Amino acid sequence: MSKRNLGTICVQGGYTPKKGEPRVLPIYQSTTFKYDTSEQMGKLFDLEDSGYFYTRLQNPTNDAVAAKIAELEGGVAAMLTSSGQAANFYAIFNICEKGGHVVCSAPIYGGTFNLFSVTMKKLGIDFTFVDPDAPVEELEKAFQENTKAVFAETVSNPSLVVLDIEKFANLAHSHGVPLILDNTFPTPINCRPFEFGADIVTHSTTKYMDGHATSVGGCVVDSGNFDWNAHAEKFPGLTTPDDSYHGIIYTEKFGKAAYITKATVQLMRDLGSIQSPQNAFLTNIGLETLHLRVKRHCENAQKVAEYLENNDKVAWVNYCGLKSSKYYELGQKYLPNGSCGVISFGLKGGREESIKFMDSLKFVAIVTHVADARTCVLHPASHTHRQLTEEQLIEAGVQPDLIRLSVGIEDVEDIIADLEQAMNV
Ligand SMILES: *Cc1c(COP(=O)(O)O)cnc(C)c1O
Repeated sequence: MSKRNLGTICVQGGYTPKKGEPRVLPIYQSTTFKYDTSEQMGKLFDLEDSGYFYTRLQNPTNDAVAAKIAELEGGVAAMLTSSGQAANFYAIFNICEKGGHVVCSAPIYGGTFNLFSVTMKKLGIDFTFVDPDAPVEELEKAFQENTKAVFAETVSNPSLVVLDIEKFANLAHSHGVPLILDNTFPTPINCRPFEFGADIVTHSTTKYMDGHATSVGGCVVDSGNFDWNAHAEKFPGLTTPDDSYHGIIYTEKFGKAAYITKATVQLMRDLGSIQSPQNAFLTNIGLETLHLRVKRHCENAQKVAEYLENNDKVAWVNYCGLKSSKYYELGQKYLPNGSCGVISFGLKGGREESIKFMDSLKFVAIVTHVADARTCVLHPASHTHRQLTEEQLIEAGVQPDLIRLSVGIEDVEDIIADLEQAMNV
C-alpha cells in the first residue's frame, strides 16, 4: 500500500474488512482459537506458521490496533501491552538482562524512574541517568562495556524537556546500541522519532491515544532499522539460538521484525502483560480521532501557556511553544506542529501557593492522569513523584513547586477563566 497520511491512518489503519465483515474493528473476546488438526496447532507453537492460538500471544483485535500504531509511527510492527509501564519494561528487557546497563535521560516519568532505578536494578540491570542537555563529550562518559541501550522521552513527563533526538540517536549508534524513545506525549501526530534515528518507540496508550481516560495500555513499536547482527555480541538474545523455541535465531528467521517478534513470542508468552481486547477496542476508538484531538490540545495549550506567561502571579512557565522556552528551538525542529497539551509552571509563593491554587479550581480537576480530553492538574512532588527525594526530584526535572497542567479540548476561554478565578482566591 502506498504511504497514507496520518489522519487517514488514525481513522482507517490496522483493519480492512472484507466483503460482509463488520465495518468496525470487532472485539475478539476469545482466549483461544480453533484448529482442525493437531499438526496445524503444533506448527504455530514452533513458529513455523503464523496464526492465532491463544490471546496471551496474539489476538486479532490487539493486532489490528498494534498495526495501526506501527503504521502511524512508520515502524515494521508493534506489540500492545497492558500498560505503559509494561511497554517500557519489555522494550528494555528484550535486549538487556542481568549484568546489562542502560544510559537513560534523567528527566522521565516518575513511574519509569522507579521501574528503572528500583525494580529493574533488582533484576541486575543498571541505569546511568544523564542530563539530556549536556554536551556529547559529557554524555559519552556514561557508556560502559555492558551498555545495551539508550532510553529517553521525546517530551518528558512532567518536566517537558524536548529531547535532541538526533544527538541521542547518533550517540547510541556510535556505541552500537539502539535508542529507545517513549513518545507518549507528542504521539506520532506531532513527532515520528524513527525519522530522526530512534530505533524503538514506546507509548503509554493510556494518554492521548486513548484520550478519554478509559483504558490503561501501552505499546512497543519496532522501526526494523537497528542492525542487531552488526553488534551480535551485545545482543545474544536476538542473534543466538532460543532454546525455548528449538533453537531458532530471531534475526535469521524474522529479519527486520526480529526484536518485536522476540518481545511477543518470548517475553509476552512468559510474562503475560497483555492488553485486553476490550481495552484495545477502546484505544482504537480513541485513535480514530487522535489527529483532531492532538491538534486541539496543542492550540488550547499554546493559548493557556501565553496566558500564564503574561500573568504576574506566575513565577515561571515551561512550554516549548513559547519563544521564552529553553526548548523552543528543539521544539521547532522536532515538533513543528506542536508538542502536546501539557504545560508545567510554578506560582510565586512556591509549593504552598500552588496547592492553594489547585484546591480552588472548579472544573479543572485534580487527578492522577494526564493527556485526556478533560483539563486536569497534578502536583508531581505531592503525587506521582512523591516517593522521590528532593534530590531525585531535581534530577528528574521536577521543581517542588511544579504544577503539571494537562490542557484538555474544552473551550479554551473556559479553561483560562477557571485558572484565573483560582489564582485570585
Ligand atoms: C503515564 C506514562 C507512562 C506509564 O504508563 P501507564 O500506562 O500509566 O503504565 C510511561 N511513560 C510516560 C511518558 C507516561 O506519561
